[in-house]
Amino acid sequence: MNQLKNAVFQLFFFCAFLFIACNEIRYKDSLRSTSIAIQPYNFTDTAQLYFLKTNIENYYHFKVILLPNKEVPKEAWYAPRNRYKADKLIRILKDTKPDSVNYIMGITPKDISIKKEDIPDYGIMGLGFRPGPSCIVSTFRLKTPNKRLLNERLAKVALHEIGHNVGLPHCTTKDCFMHAAEGSIKQIDAEKRDMCSTCKKLAQLQ
Ligand SMILES: [Zn+2]
Ligand SMILES: [Zn+2]
Repeated sequence: MNQLKNAVFQLFFFCAFLFIACNEIRYKDSLRSTSIAIQPYNFTDTAQLYFLKTNIENYYHFKVILLPNKEVPKEAWYAPRNRYKADKLIRILKDTKPDSVNYIMGITPKDISIKKEDIPDYGIMGLGFRPGPSCIVSTFRLKTPNKRLLNERLAKVALHEIGHNVGLPHCTTKDCFMHAAEGSIKQIDAEKRDMCSTCKKLAQLQ
């Protein structure tokens, strides 16, 4: 009788294992079929572009394509502050996205801004549609002589904006990278290069 019980238990665990293993394969296949293009705008730091590419591949398991560098589109230039309107840039990126990819992310060393409530021009680090096909990231406000820290900040801002593209809202968990930065570099430094489990579930990364 005990032997029969053991056999039933073993069969149950084997089936459970198979079910989990099959789900794991389906999940990875669906993510691998998603792709994103990185569009550099006056951005020529190849090492940083490859760093970003690897980070997006490792975190979202997207296929990442690097597009050739372009000038920042003049239509987005905001003369009074000599910077670029981020909302305009994400619209241009949406319109120029190759049909072969799901998403496109612009990256630029130039300062970018948006109109925020009663502030006509507010400098930001990144902006993305929620949900939507495009986002923009600027390294202008991430500046530090510490290259490692700069890369860390860049990765968090980029992963955050892609998070918006896949549909995530801002999160109230302090160390989740989907927390609103509100222009604060301190907030970005306080975050992990990871989402909290609630955001992961929402983004179907878990
Ligand atoms: Zn955000
Ligand atoms: Zn979160």
